[in-house]
Amino acid sequence: MRDRAWKVVTLVLSASALSLALSDSYGLRTVQPGDSIGSIASRYGVGASSVLEANGLNGTLIRPGDVLKVPLGDATGGIVEAAPEPPPGFRRHVLSSGETLSEIVQRYGISLDALVGANPDLSSLDRLPVGVELLIPPGEGLVVVLDHPLGLAELLLEYDADPLAVARANALRSPFDLRAGMLLFLPEVEPSAALERLAKVREAENRYVWPVHGRLTSYFGRRNLGMGTAAFHRGIDVAAPTGTPIVAARSGTVTYAGWSSRGYGNLVRVRHHGGDETWYAHASRILVSVGQHVSQGQTIALIGSTGLSTGPHLHFELHVGGSAIDPLGELR
Ligand SMILES: [Zn+2]
Repeated sequence: MRDRAWKVVTLVLSASALSLALSDSYGLRTVQPGDSIGSIASRYGVGASSVLEANGLNGTLIRPGDVLKVPLGDATGGIVEAAPEPPPGFRRHVLSSGETLSEIVQRYGISLDALVGANPDLSSLDRLPVGVELLIPPGEGLVVVLDHPLGLAELLLEYDADPLAVARANALRSPFDLRAGMLLFLPEVEPSAALERLAKVREAENRYVWPVHGRLTSYFGRRNLGMGTAAFHRGIDVAAPTGTPIVAARSGTVTYAGWSSRGYGNLVRVRHHGGDETWYAHASRILVSVGQHVSQGQTIALIGSTGLSTGPHLHFELHVGGSAIDPLGELR
């Protein structure tokens, strides 16, 4: 009798301990391409609203690579999978505040491509939230998820991966070592799809980068010319030594490359996706021609002092909807 009572007490105790543990525990899920708040919530058997609440989200916009907290205390069913183990030789690194990916690759002595290959679902190269766990690979390659134990042959074919190298890198001794959902490292396979996606993300996030680094000598807007006269400055001026490269602030197509009689001197204009234009004036040399596609960061001209200019500098304009706006707030 006493025995039984004890059992019940133990049972109750452990049950309450369990629910206590569950109530403040979270599962972490890295958002995969195709995931939505709704699909994640139903997968873990929790309400979509509690996922939103746990992550302080007001909208349902999530991106692959975002790490979401799934409040397990609210779980009504469903299975919470533990994050799959990384392949052998991998280390983990949790992003701390202020840390950048370039610091991480330097610290571990790997390339950015290798880091992307190990974490192909990253949402961004520049704006990762603190706390994201990154896998640090032992070398170049791509990490993929094995959907099905019988899917290996297909994966090897798809990525043109060397079966022996894959077996060695993942310590596979027999087909029985293969499990659905496991992470496989494909050595020497380039993460080209991820790199391409991240380049697009990077450009969307940093829509306009500084065309040249130097001293900002004149701002956008009215400027007093003295003697009661004023003029409107349609761009910003950045001083830099003659010959310093001027880069395209964003990718686009060159729409003008030559002398401008309107005081701009040697002028390059680039039209971007959506119709915005950037103008680069007073160049000593122009290195592109009309119709040419330029990528963000590509050198298009060299700093000079041509046209109405009192010293070597870049006069930079950003035209949105046909009129010049202050570019300062747009530059990253
Ligand atoms: Zn100017």
